Amino acid sequence: MSDIDADNEQEQQMLDAIEKWLERDVRPHVLRLEHADEYPIEMVEQMKELGLFGATIGVEYGGLGLKAGTYAKIVEKIAATWMSLSGIFNSHLIMAACVERNGTEEQKNHYLPKFATGEIRGGLALTEPDAGTDLQGIKMRAKKDGDHYIINGTKTWISNGIHGTCFALLVKTDASADPAHKGMSCFIAEKGPGFTVSKKLEKLGYKGIDSAELIFQDYKIHASKLIGAKEGRGMQTALGGLELGRINVAARGCGIAGAALMDAVKYAQVRHTFGKPIAEHQAIQLKLGEMATRLQAARLLTYDAARIYDKGERCDMEAGMAKYFASEAALENATECLRIHGGYGYSKEYHVERYYRDAPLMCIGEGTNEMQRIIIARQMIARHPA
Ligand SMILES: Cc1cc2nc3c(=O)[nH]c(=O)nc-3n(C[C@H](O)[C@H](O)[C@H](O)COP(=O)(O)OP(=O)(O)OC[C@H]3O[C@@H](n4cnc5c(N)ncnc54)[C@H](O)[C@@H]3O)c2cc1C
Repeated sequence: MSDIDADNEQEQQMLDAIEKWLERDVRPHVLRLEHADEYPIEMVEQMKELGLFGATIGVEYGGLGLKAGTYAKIVEKIAATWMSLSGIFNSHLIMAACVERNGTEEQKNHYLPKFATGEIRGGLALTEPDAGTDLQGIKMRAKKDGDHYIINGTKTWISNGIHGTCFALLVKTDASADPAHKGMSCFIAEKGPGFTVSKKLEKLGYKGIDSAELIFQDYKIHASKLIGAKEGRGMQTALGGLELGRINVAARGCGIAGAALMDAVKYAQVRHTFGKPIAEHQAIQLKLGEMATRLQAARLLTYDAARIYDKGERCDMEAGMAKYFASEAALENATECLRIHGGYGYSKEYHVERYYRDAPLMCIGEGTNEMQRIIIARQMIARHPA
């Protein structure tokens, strides 16, 4: 069997296992958990068994070592069923990617096997109350104190902030550095004295998964937890992890766009007005045609970004295009699906209203869509000098 055939077989096996799990253990419970905004404890245990917490971590560290392309297809499937679940392992895997790509051997050997099994789970802590897009404006400080650092500051909107115990934490080790990113560093911060959750944040959508504000007050961390054991590389570490994060968000966008399309296609065939299924009205067909085309374009952009990521090449432009287009496709398809459902689209008994609440997050998270377009434009100019 060639390497390509083996990869395809592994991908199909994984996708089949995910599909079975979603049908059996997830789909029947989504509406209840979503509307109760309840953390899916049992599903998290099942996700551990499926290996999802180690999906992209190398096999040498106990992960599945999946390619980004396979990972994107898994994420799309899961997001089509309940988008919140993908956030539970996605930001965890970005944290893992930060360590795997930039960590010391000791850090990788200690953390990656525990991340892969889900024994230690967490995410990425970049955003602060006064700085999200402009990360160089963060205020969190880490001051050297012998062989430790003392960290003070606040992070907000941190996914898995309550149920997770470990975070890739972006701080300033030299607040006077110019440019500011040269004074930024990333730590592997585990919960302990001085690191508390101050509040759970209430949200429009993305229910079930916890988003929290985290406070660091004289939090003492050993210097061995500085990712890569060198100050000044924090932005590089965090932004490197975001390429995978953007492919993930693009895949989540495809999941929502696809779920909205399929719900609309099915509903349009069973709902009758003026003596025929609404699917036979041309105005509805135009919507379905646009929705299907948007989904296909979003998928192709996502797979293309994943392919370049898998080759180990820089893909910020392609990941940005995929994230931008697929998230807008999710928003537009969710809106059209809601319209096609008429009054039922507004009902909590259907999934449609959830797609409509979940989709906007895809336009904001992992870098807003405004920033994606700026990144794309800068890359176009850099790659094509006059
Ligand atoms: C549910 C949820 C989960 C999240 N999870 C995490 C997480 O796990 N970890 C984490 O670190 N963060 C997380 N975030 C934070 C998220 O990454 C930020 O909200 C996002 O990066 C935007 O930052 P901001 O909210 O500070 O908006 P701002 O940076 O204040 O931006 C406000 C507006 O201005 C625009 N803008 C800003 N600068 C420019 C510019 N130069 N040019 C043009 N337009 C610009 C933006 O596009 C946006 O429209 C989460 C957010 C949400 C809502």
